[in-house]
Amino acid sequence: MMKSTRLKPLSSGAPRMSAATPDAPASNCPVCPRLQAFRQANQRKFPDFHNAPVASFGPLDARLLIVGLAPGLKGANQTGRPFTGDFAGDLLYATLGKFGFAEGIYDRRPDDGLALRDCRITNAVRCVPPENKPTTQEIKDCLGFLTSELTTLPNLRVLIALGGIAHGAVLSALGLKKSHCKFVHQAVHALPNGLLLIDSYHCSRYNTNTRRLTEEMFEAVFEKARRLLDAPV
Ligand code: SF4
Repeated sequence: MMKSTRLKPLSSGAPRMSAATPDAPASNCPVCPRLQAFRQANQRKFPDFHNAPVASFGPLDARLLIVGLAPGLKGANQTGRPFTGDFAGDLLYATLGKFGFAEGIYDRRPDDGLALRDCRITNAVRCVPPENKPTTQEIKDCLGFLTSELTTLPNLRVLIALGGIAHGAVLSALGLKKSHCKFVHQAVHALPNGLLLIDSYHCSRYNTNTRRLTEEMFEAVFEKARRLLDAPV
């Protein structure tokens, strides 16, 4: 039985989703003061940006859930769609298309018409953190929304954690200890609730520039996900 994490109350006026839809934060979520202040500073600096928690993207009946770290300042925080607008998205969406998890043209805009197939994308932390670094407390405070994704999506079978922090957040969101399984690129971990967790280095520009993650290495992760999903249950 998975441990459920109590969500912080949504701020007043925020619509609470129906039982079949994962919980999502209010656009003015006040739970992390540092991130709220950063959002507000960005609202003044970049008034045309999204500058709010970024909602998950993809169908609710997806079998694959990709868990990233947090929105990038000029990526998802600008456009309002996970991994949309920056380098990480270029690699992620191209790879998703190759393995049949995305359809349409990815054009770095939330209205580019791209649709995910059997795949959904979320972030461990929903608000952009300064220097892409959420604190341990912020990761903890946003965990309830990830727990809600993991326990609400009815057909979920495979998770891909992009980076060690996302890996740790998935374990915590399911009430598992960090020592349950270590982050290892391309490893597949069978979780006690039946989900399979695949680890991948994050598809950031830094990781690809330093060759920690190559295109081929990233594709191998999604090939594995595709194989696991296509295998008879
Ligand atoms: S990171 Fe999550 S919990 Fe923190 S303010 Fe943003 S939405 Fe709220």
